[in-house]
Amino acid sequence: MPEKIDFEKFASWLKTKWQGPEAHQCPICKVNNWGLSHSLVEIREFNKEGIVPVSVVYPLISLACNNCGNTILFNAIIAKMFSPTENPSSQPSQADSPTPTPESATPSR
Ligand SMILES: [Zn+2]
Repeated sequence: MPEKIDFEKFASWLKTKWQGPEAHQCPICKVNNWGLSHSLVEIREFNKEGIVPVSVVYPLISLACNNCGNTILFNAIIAKMFSPTENPSSQPSQADSPTPTPESATPSR
């Protein structure tokens, strides 16, 4: 089941982080016209053997510029849009680590 994004909650969080004279402008085309993905997306840990059944997955929020396609990804855990403890079945090894980083994330085998 895809994890839906609470648009208002994310917009409020983003407003506190994305500041300065060029806030809300696309860094590529300078247009302010963004599209938010309806669901969380994910990036998984790279493995040269291919996709492994149990690996670290990073839940992300995708924000795409509707003018040039530049896409910004936000870590959904840091943005407080998803907590690994909300859905333990999809987070096999991250229950004690709310903000997985490449250094701390270790796949469970
Ligand atoms: Zn753009």
